[in-house]
Amino acid sequence: MLRTILLGPPGAGKGTQAVKIVEKYNIPHISTGDIFRENIKNETELGNRAKAYMDRGELVPDELVVEIATDRLTKDDCKNGFLLDGFPRTIFQAEKLDEFLAQRGEKIDKVINIDVEKDALVKRITGRRVCKSCGASYHVVNIPPKKDGVCDLCNGELIQRADDTEETVLNRIDVYNKQTKPLVDYYDKAGVIINIDGNKDLDDVLADIVKGLGK
Ligand code: AMP
Repeated sequence: MLRTILLGPPGAGKGTQAVKIVEKYNIPHISTGDIFRENIKNETELGNRAKAYMDRGELVPDELVVEIATDRLTKDDCKNGFLLDGFPRTIFQAEKLDEFLAQRGEKIDKVINIDVEKDALVKRITGRRVCKSCGASYHVVNIPPKKDGVCDLCNGELIQRADDTEETVLNRIDVYNKQTKPLVDYYDKAGVIINIDGNKDLDDVLADIVKGLGK
């Protein structure tokens, strides 16, 4: 059983580490950003409501996010735990998540807090490319695909996310510092924080996370 959250600024490597963590612990990866992007692609009402906020690098309103996240957590595959990536992002969301879990006699076991210096974040995000088909994440310099513009895993096309431009990234980092960083204290008080130095190599970061999770 592992109910856990990945916390960290945009570009900290949450998505990349998430793929490895869920494989190792056999729990579902729940990314609210992925859920929104999927809805935008399919032009759903939810997608339409979220798009303008996402394009500006701002947060989608709390009520909307809480509803889609808690709805996802009621699914069968979350019975043995889950990895939340990009949720919660505000104290309000964290409190609603705690309430939702408490009603079910559950709670968050661990929160993985990945920290990375700001300069590195901007370089990581602007160089990021993601697979249009399977969502796998690459970087033009740090994690290049074997063949330019093509996903190693599924041969899908690699694209730049609409909100990965330099201007939007700076806003997203600002939004993180103002609205999401207070969650580090929130979960520290609950005694569940694992602090991870995300400036290290991907493999070392993963090893530190596994050590911190202690399973
Ligand atoms: P991400 O893929 O986690 O970087 O999320 C991309 C964008 O989706 C964010 O910049 C927000 O606009 C929106 N988003 C994702 N998760 C949340 C959340 N928990 N609260 C508010 N907005 C979110």
